[in-house]
Amino acid sequence: MSESKNKSISEKLEKIAPSFCAAKWSQVLLNLQVGERHNCCLAPSQKIDAQLIQQNPQAFFNDSTLKEEREAMLKGEKISACHVCWKAEESGHLSDRHHKSAATWSSKFLEKENLKTEGVIPSYVEVSFGNKCQLMCTYCNPHNSSSLAKESKKYGPYLLSQDHNWLDKENEELFLDENENHPYATAFWNWFIQNNKNFEVLRFTGGEPLISKWIHRFLDWLKDNSMEHAEIGFNSNLAVPVELLDSFISKLKKIPTSHYKKINFYTSVDGWGKGAELARYGLKLDLFEKNFNRLMTEFPASTFRITSTLNVIAFPDTLELFKKVLEFKNKSNFKDQVAIVCYPIHYPRFLSLNWTKDFYKKHFEEILHFIEKNINEDEHQIGFYEFERDFFKKAVNFDDTINPQEGIIDIFLYFSQFKMRKGIELIDLPIEIKSIVKLGQERLLQAKIEDISINTWVRAEPWISDESKRKLIREYILSKLVSGEHNIWDALKVLLISVNQQFSYEWIPLLMTHYKTRLGAFELLYRKCIENKDKYQLDMRHYVIEHINHFDDYNAKEIIQYCRKLDLKWIREDKENILAKLEELKHPHQIELFHLIKSS
Ligand code: SF4
Repeated sequence: MSESKNKSISEKLEKIAPSFCAAKWSQVLLNLQVGERHNCCLAPSQKIDAQLIQQNPQAFFNDSTLKEEREAMLKGEKISACHVCWKAEESGHLSDRHHKSAATWSSKFLEKENLKTEGVIPSYVEVSFGNKCQLMCTYCNPHNSSSLAKESKKYGPYLLSQDHNWLDKENEELFLDENENHPYATAFWNWFIQNNKNFEVLRFTGGEPLISKWIHRFLDWLKDNSMEHAEIGFNSNLAVPVELLDSFISKLKKIPTSHYKKINFYTSVDGWGKGAELARYGLKLDLFEKNFNRLMTEFPASTFRITSTLNVIAFPDTLELFKKVLEFKNKSNFKDQVAIVCYPIHYPRFLSLNWTKDFYKKHFEEILHFIEKNINEDEHQIGFYEFERDFFKKAVNFDDTINPQEGIIDIFLYFSQFKMRKGIELIDLPIEIKSIVKLGQERLLQAKIEDISINTWVRAEPWISDESKRKLIREYILSKLVSGEHNIWDALKVLLISVNQQFSYEWIPLLMTHYKTRLGAFELLYRKCIENKDKYQLDMRHYVIEHINHFDDYNAKEIIQYCRKLDLKWIREDKENILAKLEELKHPHQIELFHLIKSS
């Protein structure tokens, strides 16, 4: 934004209220698959009341939470939901509050008389109907990618210093594209029919919108109905098969151009090479390029915005991406038809560039030099805009205060688990990633026990190649569990997840040695029995008999449950021996086990 525009928007906002932001009235991002909304991409998500929107669809953008926030803003209060903007402004920068309030679709909300706190209809609507997506981008999550949700359901999250891709209960019940009675999608449709005349921008996100049936429903609707004031935007990962893109294009072409103001396309790619395909797992760049060129040919009046989420895996390929974008720009039909906007990764931490200065500074300088060399000085020259350079610089947030150790080790742990889930050999990784993975492995092997957090050791132990080191780590963890310094259930949660991945059976005899960790051992053994009964039930028998004398402590009840759940064939075989042992014991749990076995 130009200096003068900065000044005028700041004055306009100040005139209404010191903390006023038009986006609180003009913009809504709806994640219908989880029944959540955001006021903008920076504000935290808010749950949408499923009952309320059935009775009154206006509640999508008008409920008590938003009413209170708007009232607070008009009183000049800095609401906590907008902390990202306050932080940016406190450090003397313009924030998204200025950018979004200056957007054309916010202009009508810069007049105080237009500012109600209820019955507000936004002018900018972004909507995702479901998480259906064929890609598994490394920085994405289960509620935005059905493919990641499926993988997390099978393997659990990636076990790193900060676990990644949890599929917790709430996410398991995602409202899927297919489900006809998707309460949020049906309510959205009623709300859309009532209000679409006020929308200046309607943008479809996902999941992958082009494979969502709700998008095709919208296209059928738009063929017979007009939104002549609205710019319609479609996000797409452009990894869809050509045939699917064909049917999407033919449907779009059947819509009279008078039924919309403009069509825009938004896509994402983080580099141009193997790393970029790995970072957005499932993406094939040749198909992406084919689909991109196709859309540019079919929709010469549309704008194409490329979002690049700069990350550790794809950054070595980002220079090639800028070269590719310049190629697209040279094919464009009008001045700023194609533009690239780079964003940093905040989460997951291990994919953020902030710890990679030692590895990637050279790449950063090369890319910046290339952009600078191709900045378009005048109207007639095809090249990069200053905002494209500025977003790139802002996104490469090297931070010397961050110790790269955690990132390096997490990259090793991530790709060790990635290999197991996707069958990608570490040897096949791009050279830069391969060297970081190797370094991570060495760091773990060389690290002193006390140099690494116990949380990371619990997660890293299965991936360490040296058995004696693993033994040392297991004993260290056990000591912390027994002393209570580390929460047994935290460790157990990880060990139980790793049962589906790479699990060291040695944990069971170790945990059996102490009454504080014994139940954990039985839980793990029970899981192994479920997984492979023939292989593990003899162990279960062995440990139940070995610890029968302890069936007087606080975890007997659970162990009896396990015996119940696993048919007791092995117990029947040993019945006499076990019954003899139990006969003289009097504790209620022992008597319960006695009868359980007696009756089996
Ligand atoms: S103040 Fe910032 S965070 Fe809050 S709604 Fe506006 S742009 Fe979003």
